[in-house]
Amino acid sequence: MFEIKGIIKEYPSVRALDNVSLSIDDGELISIQGESGCGKSTLLQIIAGIIMADSGTITKNNEPLSCIPHKRGVSMVFQDSLLFNNMTVSENILFGCPHKDREHRDKTVRELADAYGIGDLLKRYPYQISGGQARRAALARALACERELLLLDEPFSNLDKDLKENIIKRTRELCEGKCSAILVTHSEAEALAFCDRHLYMEEGHIL
Ligand code: ADP
Ligand code: MG
Repeated sequence: MFEIKGIIKEYPSVRALDNVSLSIDDGELISIQGESGCGKSTLLQIIAGIIMADSGTITKNNEPLSCIPHKRGVSMVFQDSLLFNNMTVSENILFGCPHKDREHRDKTVRELADAYGIGDLLKRYPYQISGGQARRAALARALACERELLLLDEPFSNLDKDLKENIIKRTRELCEGKCSAILVTHSEAEALAFCDRHLYMEEGHIL
């Protein structure tokens, strides 16, 4: 269980997060919906350890989250800058699990690439695939490292309807029984399709 308490984050011109608290049970899939600029990405980046909060605490099973990335228990799909351009799709997917043995890594890539229909793109570089394919590779990379909490920053936006439905369904199946997730989105339809519990943010607050 992850518990986020009293997070405050100020930028010079705006208080992006104003005392945000929430808890996520094991296996729970939560959406955070809200208008552009309300603080969704800032919150995910703080949970991921990419930026520091001014104050507040985040714990996993009552222990403070580790600052060491692979011990933090969190993986993330970013809103943009999805993949490393100097690595193939396969290398991107395996980026977060260098410590796993060869057999496990091969199996992970194969299963995730098959689930997302990108099995024939594994040797390509990010500039040789489409935006929708890059999103699927980014999702596969976040799932490959098998962390307890998956952070999704609008990973389903700008996709064709059929593809979107398919990717949401696959991602839900891949999470079920394995990890919890926070989906940040401004789309109610995406939230309803992926998540069981729904939170709303406005100007740095969870309503
Ligand atoms: P959302 O993801 O909900 O669109 P963000 O978390 O990206 O919102 O941004 C929340 C607020 O913080 C916005 O007002 C945004 O302009 C501001 N902000 C985000 N990042 C920075 C930054 N690095 N420097 C200054 N202001 C920022
Ligand atoms: Mg954002």
